[in-house]
Amino acid sequence: MSAGRPSSTPAVLRVRWLPGTDVLLGTCHCGAEHECQDPVEMWDWMHAHPDHPTREEVPR
Ligand SMILES: [Zn+2]
Repeated sequence: MSAGRPSSTPAVLRVRWLPGTDVLLGTCHCGAEHECQDPVEMWDWMHAHPDHPTREEVPR
């Protein structure tokens, strides 16, 4: 994701691509994190902000 157009991408949201995997890791400004392999799903998750849990419990 490129920076420079903050109109549609709040700077407080971050998405990283985990090296060596197809997994995206998104971090919301509220502290919630989400892993998925679909950028569209990630986008939906970010825009669902008030509705996603503040801290997701991910069992390993
Ligand atoms: Zn959030």
